[in-house]
Amino acid sequence: MEHIRYEVDGPIGVISLDRTEKANAVDQQALDELNMAFEAAATDREIRVIVLRAEGKHFCAGHDITASNTAVGREAGEATPQTAVDWDVRGLQAIYEWETIHYLGYSRRWRDIPKPTIAAVQGQCIAGGLMLCWPCDLIVAADNARFSDPVVRMGIGGVEYHAHTWEVGARKAKEMLFTAQPITAQQALESGMVNRVVPLDDLLSETMDLAGQIAEMHPFALAQAKRAVNQTLDVQGFYSALQSVFDIHQTGHGNAMTVGDYPILVNLDQMKDTNRN
Ligand code: ZN
Repeated sequence: MEHIRYEVDGPIGVISLDRTEKANAVDQQALDELNMAFEAAATDREIRVIVLRAEGKHFCAGHDITASNTAVGREAGEATPQTAVDWDVRGLQAIYEWETIHYLGYSRRWRDIPKPTIAAVQGQCIAGGLMLCWPCDLIVAADNARFSDPVVRMGIGGVEYHAHTWEVGARKAKEMLFTAQPITAQQALESGMVNRVVPLDDLLSETMDLAGQIAEMHPFALAQAKRAVNQTLDVQGFYSALQSVFDIHQTGHGNAMTVGDYPILVNLDQMKDTNRN
């Protein structure tokens, strides 16, 4: 693997984002590798707890949009490994199918791995970065962590995995989306979005201590506890809300395609021109 590292530390599987030259922005390759690492940890009976962390100053700068545009816009007939996408399709259907697998699909799959997962977040965690840490069961934040979803600036109502409202509550979710401003580690703690805020230098050790403590519990009991909480959220509508809002998100892509020449992003200048005309 090129962008992701996977290491085993006793009963703990440690997955590291390791694409620091891009502030750990994720493209299709990184997402596929990340999924492989989660899969390896999920299927290894010796692994009791999974930690997701990042090398470098920042946890994740979001989706590598240049890369996903390339993927969505790839020429008909080009092979795409590890996906069921038919690249003969174009337009919104291509985006919908690609994002269903790589964005909503992966995040949901990671969220439902029947083992505890802990994200350790430092620095910036932007947009697509939220789709990596939110599916984890616990989040330990360094005191310099900043969480943001500035996708409204691009003409779309938020990232593909709409956990915002569940993670920070309706008002804070709206503020986060309307202003594109980050919430701090401390604010994330107050809203219940993260479990702990620790000094940056202690992030890994505190996370591994927590993982070690959890790893002493019975794995099936942990799986049941996780399922109990996730199932409660799903009964409350989390699962269907995610799918509904994913479809709203696709309306944003559809609009972007009608007002701009770029399949993923709205070109705001062009949008203004279109509105003027
Ligand atoms: Zn999208």
